[in-house]
Amino acid sequence: MQQLTVLGSTGSIGTSTLDVVARHPDKFKIAALTANAQVDLLLRQCQQFKPRYAVLVDEAAAARLRLLVREAGLSVEVLGGAAALEQVCILPEVDAVMAAIVGAAGLRPTLAAARAGKKILLANKETLVMAGNVFMDAVRGSGSVLLPIDSEHNAIFQALPRGYDGDLAASGVRRILLTASGGPFRNTPLSELHNVTPEQACAHPNWVMGRKISVDSASMMNKGLEVIEAHWLFNAGADDIQVVVHPQSVIHSLVEYVDGSVLAQLGNPDMRTPIAYGLAYPERIDSGVASLDLFKVATLNFVAPDFERFPCLALAYQALCAAGTAPAVLNAANEVAVAAFLDRQIAFLDIPRVIAAVLDALPVNAVGSLDDVLVADAEARRAATEWIAR
Ligand code: NAD
Ligand code: MG
Repeated sequence: MQQLTVLGSTGSIGTSTLDVVARHPDKFKIAALTANAQVDLLLRQCQQFKPRYAVLVDEAAAARLRLLVREAGLSVEVLGGAAALEQVCILPEVDAVMAAIVGAAGLRPTLAAARAGKKILLANKETLVMAGNVFMDAVRGSGSVLLPIDSEHNAIFQALPRGYDGDLAASGVRRILLTASGGPFRNTPLSELHNVTPEQACAHPNWVMGRKISVDSASMMNKGLEVIEAHWLFNAGADDIQVVVHPQSVIHSLVEYVDGSVLAQLGNPDMRTPIAYGLAYPERIDSGVASLDLFKVATLNFVAPDFERFPCLALAYQALCAAGTAPAVLNAANEVAVAAFLDRQIAFLDIPRVIAAVLDALPVNAVGSLDDVLVADAEARRAATEWIAR
C-alpha cells in the first residue's frame, strides 16, 4: 500500500489523480490533500478519501473547512497556511507526493518532498523552470525517484532506455522530439490575436486544464517551459530538443536514436495515463482511459513551430541559453502577465511584451541556492507588475 500526498488536489491534475487512485483502493491510500482555498471540493474529497490531513493555504478557508469536517464527523486534521504544505510532504508515512500545485507556489513543498527522499510525481513544471539545478541536486542527494507527469516528459521517459542516467549520447539518443498541439490560436489570423479573450485562450482544442496552463498553451509558453523542463529532467541541451507541432495531441513526444529508430508514446489526450504510469511505476495499472481508436484518429500532422506567431517560445529558449536566474525571471514575468491577461488588464499579445521587457531589464545571476531563485522571482514580479501598471 502506497501512501500519497496530493498537492493541488482540487485542480485539474489533482482531481484526475484522485480518479485513478479511487480505481485502486488496494494499492493507494491518501495521507494528505491540499488546495489553495476551495473549501467545498476539499471537503467532498475528505469524505471520499479520508486522509489524515487536509491543508488549505488560505487560513480563513481552513477555519471553515475545520468546522465542516467536525460537523461531518471526519477524523481529518485541517491545517492552514503555506508552511503546512511542506509539513504534509515530509510525513514519515508518506511514500509519494503528487506535485500538482500551479505556478511558483509549488516550488517549496515540491523541494521539501525531494529533500525528504519521497517519490515525486512531478506535474508542477514551474519547479524545474525556476530552480532546476537546486531541485535536481535535492533529488540526487536524497535518492528520491522523480517521475515526470507532464504528458510529453512522461512520453520521453517511457521512450528512453529504462534506468536512463542523464547521458543522451551514451544512450544512443540523437535528439528529443517534443510535441505541441499549437493551442487554440494555431491558425488564427495574426491580426485577430490582439483581441482574443481569456475565454478563447482557455478553450483548448484537445486538453481540459487549469486556466494558467491553458493560457500558456495558447501562447506556447507552455512548450517553452517544457523545453526547460526537458533540459533538467533528461540533461538535454537546447539543441537536443526539437519542438514539433502536432495538432491531434495523440503522439505525446518521441525520442530519436542514432540508428534512425524513433520511439514514440501515443494515447488519448487524457492526463490519467501519465498519472497512472507515475503512480504504479514500474508496473502498469488501469487508468480509466479509453483505448486509442487509430481509425478514428486517421491522420497525424506535423509542422515546425512558428516563432513569430509564438514569441513566448523564443523567449523561453533565450532564457534557457542565458541560464542562471533567467528561467526563473521568465517564469515569474509570465505568471504575472497571464494573471493580468485573465483579469483583462492587458491584451494577449502583451504577454510576450511584458516577459521580454522584464528579461531585458533584470541581470542574469548564478543560482547557488533556493534564495537566489526566490530573489530573482520577486524582482521579476515587481518589474512585470510595474510594466503592466505603467
Ligand atoms: P489548476 O489550476 O487546475 O489547479 C491548481 C491546484 O493548485 C488547485 O488545487 C489549487 O487549489 C492549487 N493552488 C493554486 N494556487 C495555490 C497556492 N498559491 N498555494 C497552494 N496551492 C495552490 O492547475 P492544473 O491544470 O491542475 O495544473 C497544475 C500543475 O500541473 C501546473 O504546474 C501545470 O503546469 C501542470 N500540468 C497540468 C496539466 C493539465 O493537463 N492540467 C498537464 C501538464 C502539466
Ligand atoms: Mg505538457
